[in-house]
Order: sequence, then structure tokens, then C-alpha cells
Amino acid sequence: MIKFTLIENSLDSIELGMKHLTKANQEGDPSSYKHSLLCLFHGAELILKEILVLIDPITIFDKNSLFRYCKTPLKPTTEELYNCRSLDIAGICSELKKHYSGDFPKTSIKALQDLAKERNKVQHFAIKMNPSNILNQLLKLYLLLIKPAYKIRIEHKKSNEDEELPAGLIGERISEFENSFLNIKMEDGFHRGCCAKCGHFTFFIVYENESYPIYCACTTCNYEIKGKEGYDYFQCPECDNGSLVYDPDLKAGVCVAYKCANNLEGETVEMEPCASCSGYKIEKYCFQCDTET
Ligand SMILES: [Zn+2]
Ligand SMILES: [Zn+2]
Ligand SMILES: [Zn+2]
Repeated sequence: MIKFTLIENSLDSIELGMKHLTKANQEGDPSSYKHSLLCLFHGAELILKEILVLIDPITIFDKNSLFRYCKTPLKPTTEELYNCRSLDIAGICSELKKHYSGDFPKTSIKALQDLAKERNKVQHFAIKMNPSNILNQLLKLYLLLIKPAYKIRIEHKKSNEDEELPAGLIGERISEFENSFLNIKMEDGFHRGCCAKCGHFTFFIVYENESYPIYCACTTCNYEIKGKEGYDYFQCPECDNGSLVYDPDLKAGVCVAYKCANNLEGETVEMEPCASCSGYKIEKYCFQCDTET
């Protein structure tokens, strides 16, 4: 069997990246920003390869080089794989789309591609990084790629407990660097609110050139709001913003405006699908059916 150390190396890289990021955030030092980007990106690349290895080890190798260097390309030896080129980011993106499209929707793939471009810029060109822009992209990298990839890995591990690195230990190391993320000073592109499900102040709201969030996630309980469009949001009775979204599991409305009192207290809004139309009753009132005449 072929042995990889992708997960260990990924954890090491992310831990180092978080140290640089904390320093960068405290001291505003450009070289720490650069190192945090390089380490965190590398860590993401490794954990994404790790979950592709779960499908089949050869998934992470470039097909042409497998055919060039291996006698039986679909069953290569470890020794032969040492000669093979592994996938670049474009290759990783297309394999993720193929095998894990539910876990990594379009917004996730785009975040990875955008950051790959930033990584290339700092590696090869003398550029000045904009700290708030880089922070925003790193947070997206974490929430949209690193976190779900580790989740896949840990779930797989539970059914394969014979492996060397116990799932519990991986979990501990993850929550450690997640904590450092929580202490990073927030900038404009994302906000933190209170989770409507678990009540912790660890509900990240990520915007990207849209008036509504592209992604929301709680790092404590993994509660997520994703894949919503503008028309999924309704006017919140508490703050009047078009920031209320119906959650079928909570059977209630969740306001994602981070300044809204409901969000700040982790409270939901009374909301249910309307029995008479395709809309919703918000605090017992449907804007389509209950208009006064
Ligand atoms: Zn939560
Ligand atoms: Zn609100
Ligand atoms: Zn109605």
C-alpha cells in the first residue's frame, strides 16, 4: 500500500501559517502576511490532495506523467510515483468538481483559484499586499476549503480507526488553529455574528460583491447557510434589512445582518411557509396573502 503524509504536513503548514497570520494581524508586518499566505495555501493544497487520495491515490497525480513513468499507470508502485508530477491547482479544482461537488460549490472553487493567483503574485512578483484583502481571502480559504476538507477527512477516519493519526488528535489541532482565526481582527469583507443554532459568537458571514452573504458558517456547531440567492432573502421585522432567510431545519427565519438585534442574540424570527402561496408568513403575516384591502 502507498503511504502518504499529506495530512500531517497539512496540519504543520496551517499551524505555521496561523502563527504568521496572528503576527501579521497584530503588527501589520508585510512579510508575515506573505508567509501566512504561502503556508496556509500550501496547507490547503495538501488537505485537498489528502481527500482526493481517499478516492484513489492516483487521483492526485498528473495523468500524463503516470503514463510516462509507470509500467501499469493505474496500479503504480511507490517508487514510480516519486517520478510523477502531482496535480496543480487547476487539476485539483477539476477533481474536486468531479468527486466532491456538493462539499465544494462554485464559490469555493473560485476562492481557491483567486488565492492561487495571489500566491503566484507573491511568489514571483514584487507586489504590495493589501492586508484587509488578503485577510478576507484567507478566511474564505479556511471556511470554504480547509474546514470542509478536514471534515471529510475526519468522517472517513471514524470508519478507519486503524490509522496512525487518531481522529481525536486531528480534531484537537484543528480547533487550536480555528481559535487563532477567531481572534483575528475583522475587516470589511466579512462579519461575525451570533449563531442562531448554538448561540456562540462564532457565526461568520462572508460577503463578496453582493448585497447578501455568499456564505455563512458557525465554526462551533458547523451550522451553515450557503447557496442562497438574493430572492431567498426577506425583510427582517427586527432590522428592516432584506437579510432574513428561512431555515427548514430550525423551522424559523435567520437574520444574517450582523448588527441586527436578533443576530446579536442568536435569536430566530418566527417564520413559516405560507399555506396559501409560495411565500412565507413572517411573524404570522404573509405579504402576498394578508394585504389589507
Ligand atoms: Zn453554531
Ligand atoms: Zn434582522
Ligand atoms: Zn401567502
